[in-house]
Amino acid sequence: MFPANRSFPKVPLIQTPTPLHRLSHLSKDLNLDLWIKRDDLTGFAMGGNKGRKLEYVIADALQKDAEVIVGCGSLQSNFIRHLAAACSVYGIVCAAALMDLPFNEPEDKPSQPGLQPTNGNALLDRILGADLRVFPDGTWNELDAHRADLVAEYQAKGKRVYDIPIGGSSALSAFAFVEAAEELKGHSFDWIVFASSSGSTQTGLSYAFHETNTNIQGIACDPEPEMVEDFVDLAAQLDTLLGQTKGLKADDFRWDLDSVGPGYGIPSKEGESALQLMARREGIFLDPIYTAKAFAGLIRLSEAGKIAGKVLFWHTGGTPALFALQDA
Ligand SMILES: *Cc1c(COP(=O)(O)O)cnc(C)c1O
Repeated sequence: MFPANRSFPKVPLIQTPTPLHRLSHLSKDLNLDLWIKRDDLTGFAMGGNKGRKLEYVIADALQKDAEVIVGCGSLQSNFIRHLAAACSVYGIVCAAALMDLPFNEPEDKPSQPGLQPTNGNALLDRILGADLRVFPDGTWNELDAHRADLVAEYQAKGKRVYDIPIGGSSALSAFAFVEAAEELKGHSFDWIVFASSSGSTQTGLSYAFHETNTNIQGIACDPEPEMVEDFVDLAAQLDTLLGQTKGLKADDFRWDLDSVGPGYGIPSKEGESALQLMARREGIFLDPIYTAKAFAGLIRLSEAGKIAGKVLFWHTGGTPALFALQDA
């Protein structure tokens, strides 16, 4: 494994190492040696993988004397929830451009409802007092443009603004997962499976385990095959940050697009069954948008004989979105 033997400034937000334990019932059910990494228990702002990124992002923003951090995402974004909470701790204003269900191309506009727009993360964001600007659904590029407008608005008021990309994916955020990989020391997993979206988790873990016997398998939660270009780009940024020349290419990322279901932000049938299975066999809650789809993907790949042996399911959090499920 690649040693995360570099350090960058970070602020304390989360409790690490997160728990790592075996799932004995599901190991039997699925004929795997199945383990789980509990990043749903990072302990800050109801848990999730975004806390790892924000320890670095907030430190960077503080170094740059930011007064406002501007982000964007869906109404049920776990990232915006974490960002708003972290900003509260460090006395920074959090402003966010939001859409209920952003999509990739106009023809991908979702025809099904997603989560309720007022509960779950959206409720927590309001409690946290973030400056939330909700726009009609449109493309991710349009959402990004609204973010840029919000940056300009605060700058026009004379504020020092820190602008953060979707999902908080930056080289430092990816580094947070190179570092997280160290928490698996003493284990040798054949596979690590997790929900993949903006790319920090996938890039950081793929980087850490590049050319080892551990296969890193992301399960996509957005129907966007071209995202892999972002992973390659992030890995190049990691090379620069760490003074390395690994040069990860598209082929170095294992990435499965078959569990997205009806679209980003919309629960899938397969995911709902996986969510129930995890709850009923192990007493652990998944979320409907990321981890349930990822676990459904793990089950499918295992049934197809594509993954086997000692398998780690990396639970990336997101459980507050459960409280925004439409009446089932
Ligand atoms: C953001 C998120 C992911 C994806 O992580 P990325 O680093 O953005 O790819 C997975 N699961 C949950 C619950 C998330 O909130």
